Amino acid sequence: MPEKNSSTIDIFNMLSGTEEKAEKPQKSQRQELLEPTGVKELFPEGKISINKYTCIGVQCKLCIKACPTNALYWKTGEVGIIDDLCVYCSACVLSCMVDDCIKITRKREDGKTEKFGKPRDVMVLANSLNAEKRFQRVCDVLQSAEEYCKKYRD
Ligand code: SF4
Ligand code: SF4
Repeated sequence: MPEKNSSTIDIFNMLSGTEEKAEKPQKSQRQELLEPTGVKELFPEGKISINKYTCIGVQCKLCIKACPTNALYWKTGEVGIIDDLCVYCSACVLSCMVDDCIKITRKREDGKTEKFGKPRDVMVLANSLNAEKRFQRVCDVLQSAEEYCKKYRD
């Protein structure tokens, strides 16, 4: 009987591929579609809609050009959405010239829900988030009101 050594190949596992498959986590269809775009998902949940009655459509298409994942496309007379490719980034809302034509609702990791449909809403949201981050940085450095007062009194 031939001796089994460390270089022995298990032909049955190779053919069925069971060993390899069991170790690799399965990717969702969404992850597979997004991977080539290189865009990261920041929001675990979201929803997007486009009002085809207020959309200027064929004369515009700015949202299609702005979308980083190609989630928007032109289909017979209106803008179509591939939901699996939308990461709720807001680039389309920022470029749309019709208020509330594109509406987005998205949920952050911490559970906060954000809704917007106008470029102004996106800017206000970005400013408030930046202000929160700045405040947090100050709190991290100067952990009490006394420390803060001391720093600015000296
Ligand atoms: S929010 Fe708009 S721009 Fe961003 S991925 Fe979705 S469709 Fe594209
Ligand atoms: S940017 Fe707004 S108005 Fe222009 S095609 Fe897109 S949804 Fe329609």
